[in-house]
Amino acid sequence: MRRVALLGATGSIGRQAIDIVDASSVLSLCALASGSRGDEVRALAAARGVAHVSVGGDPPLGGLIARSEPDVVLNAVVGFAGLEATLATLEAGIDLALANKESLVSGGDLALAAWARGGGRLLPVDSEHSAIFQCLEGRALDTVGGLVLTASGGPFRGRPREELVDVTPVQALAHPTWSMGPKITIDSATLMNKGLELIEAHFLFGVPYEQIEVVIHPSSIVHSIVRFRDGAALAHLGYPDMRVPISYALTYPEREETPIRPLDLASGLALEFSAPDEDAFPALRVAREAGEAGGTAPCVLNAANEVAVAAFLDGRLPFLGIAEVVERTLGAVEAPAARDLSELVLVDAGARRVAQGLTNQLVA
Ligand code: NAD
Ligand code: MG
Repeated sequence: MRRVALLGATGSIGRQAIDIVDASSVLSLCALASGSRGDEVRALAAARGVAHVSVGGDPPLGGLIARSEPDVVLNAVVGFAGLEATLATLEAGIDLALANKESLVSGGDLALAAWARGGGRLLPVDSEHSAIFQCLEGRALDTVGGLVLTASGGPFRGRPREELVDVTPVQALAHPTWSMGPKITIDSATLMNKGLELIEAHFLFGVPYEQIEVVIHPSSIVHSIVRFRDGAALAHLGYPDMRVPISYALTYPEREETPIRPLDLASGLALEFSAPDEDAFPALRVAREAGEAGGTAPCVLNAANEVAVAAFLDGRLPFLGIAEVVERTLGAVEAPAARDLSELVLVDAGARRVAQGLTNQLVA
């Protein structure tokens, strides 16, 4: 049996992970954590005989992981709040199934150092990165020509900038191909999600930014592509269903059966790709620039984005204000490298204050 500590158990990824573990004969839960909804997470734990539970950081996730002795930690917390668990898991050399991309975006340098010291596995759960991981497996990095991240384009794909001025949270939450938590759904509508994934891919696979491309692929069937130097391009295909990459990360290097239907090719599957519109969706460019700047610029990007997305969901900030707040925050703060988690926490908090101030100015 492989013991799974599931962080973010009440969320979209968390609930799908519970389905996978419940249906599996080789996986069992040893710890459950959530940010809120304590009754729900305690009921989930009681029904499965799980002794270790944390709600709202009580007890802290680092201690929960140490005490519950997992073989693999699935970090499906949303946002910067997931960073502590990412670092603790990597440092301890425990396998990390990582859905919480914000921790790698914010703390990529610290995470890579902890991973190197700990020596465990870092298994991506994000569908694009799971796809790339599988296309890359066993192949030397110097044979790789580049990575191609696919993006559905979100609910506003094809709209020019002027048609995005007054879109509402309800419209932005209606994602065409994926059903996900609210924060990542808004990130998908602005394309910031793909910007975060660009930085995530850079840290996970050690590929420079200029070799990572983003293409729009509306049906979300091709989850990503790796180009090799001989001209070959390997793609990973499947219906958009997060249970596939969740199951793969939890059972790696085996593959367990899942209830996902096989791809129906004979009925006529059209695969379309196009370039993203960076005028309507500037978040992608802003994220790329922050990634290339390095230091704590990606942490500032993430913090400002979390503040701006929350303000948009509250109806306080217009849709186009999200990328604007993020870009202006990056322009307003210094972002030198952080030596440890406590320095990074200060950078994150400082960026949040600036982003909050800029949000208030924009809506005044
Ligand atoms: P969600 O909002 O549905 O769930 C978030 C979970 O995190 C909840 O269980 C919440 O209680 C928990 N949480 C929040 N703050 C916490 C804290 N301080 N301590 C412990 N738990 C806390 O989010 P989601 O859509 O499941 O996404 C989770 C992560 O996975 C995000 O980083 C997201 O980018 C990533 N991801 C999600 C999907 C998807 O399909 N939903 C796909 C790829 C990547
Ligand atoms: Mg993704």
